[in-house]
Amino acid sequence: MYRTCAFCNGKLDGDGGPSGLGVGRRLGFDEWRGRLWVICSKCARWNLTPLDDRLERIEAVARAATDGRVLAATDQVALIRWRTYDFVRVGKPPRVELATWRYGERLRQRSRDKAKIVVPLTIAAVGIGIAANVAAGGGLGVIVWNLHGIAEGAYVAIVGHRKVTFVEPPICAHCGAVMQLRAKHVQHARLVQESQADLAVLLSCPACRHEGALVTGPDAAQVLRQGLTFLNATRSGRKKAEDAARVVDQTGGPERLIRDVARRELTLRSLRAERRLALEMAVDEQAEVQELERQWREAEEIASIADGTLSTNAQLEEELRRLKSRAGDQPPG
Ligand SMILES: [Zn+2]
Ligand SMILES: [Zn+2]
Repeated sequence: MYRTCAFCNGKLDGDGGPSGLGVGRRLGFDEWRGRLWVICSKCARWNLTPLDDRLERIEAVARAATDGRVLAATDQVALIRWRTYDFVRVGKPPRVELATWRYGERLRQRSRDKAKIVVPLTIAAVGIGIAANVAAGGGLGVIVWNLHGIAEGAYVAIVGHRKVTFVEPPICAHCGAVMQLRAKHVQHARLVQESQADLAVLLSCPACRHEGALVTGPDAAQVLRQGLTFLNATRSGRKKAEDAARVVDQTGGPERLIRDVARRELTLRSLRAERRLALEMAVDEQAEVQELERQWREAEEIASIADGTLSTNAQLEEELRRLKSRAGDQPPG
């Protein structure tokens, strides 16, 4: 097996785990078509593995995947965590399992991002505070104590000020302006039901303050992620991963939660804090697995061409038949 990504030339991470490839931390596999990919952590492209021994390797990965936890799934693709490996299984997905630790992982990532801003700000503020105190001839103490709070406030302001990036910027139906949305403006938006889309968000125009545009699909996901990240960063929004996981659990899964919030048509800021965090996590996971499905479709197109020349191999055909009949035996869901 190659050690570098065929697309970006970057070094592939991981050791391949049960695949025995010796490389890869995130692996995509399709038992039905007999495909196995190492997914590059740098460019996210899917590297098709060599055909020799591939079916054996797929079997080993599939076996490990049945012991893993399903983090998220679309109709075609399931993201499964097993130990330190991620498997992207193509085919009918098993039931999604709710994972508090997974939400905790995402929150830790956020606090790392936050530390990149808050720590330098605090250090800068401490410097200013000392200078101000010395200038005033006073002692240190109360001022320095409050500085971390000031840096936290600055962090929330920075997150709130971030521009929302759209594939196509929405135009306000009320005043005709192109909406220049920042994350903080999204608190007035509402998740609504739309028969044509998984996600639909009704946006309030920052210029005229009327509800003026409906965005769907990837734009809706982007708006929600940025808006909820801001709301959940505020003091009242800080909640624990367990609370969010419990909310998702009680509602019956991420998809149900999104549908439930949309049915009630409340503005994002009026949602309870733990529900808001749960919604952010749900939207995040859905976006990730949908992106994986898109990547798989692209990789499968290449794989079908790459493998096509070899499909006359009778042994391969035989193996595929065997795997197919085995996949058919599995209980649904
Ligand atoms: Zn790459
Ligand atoms: Zn407007």
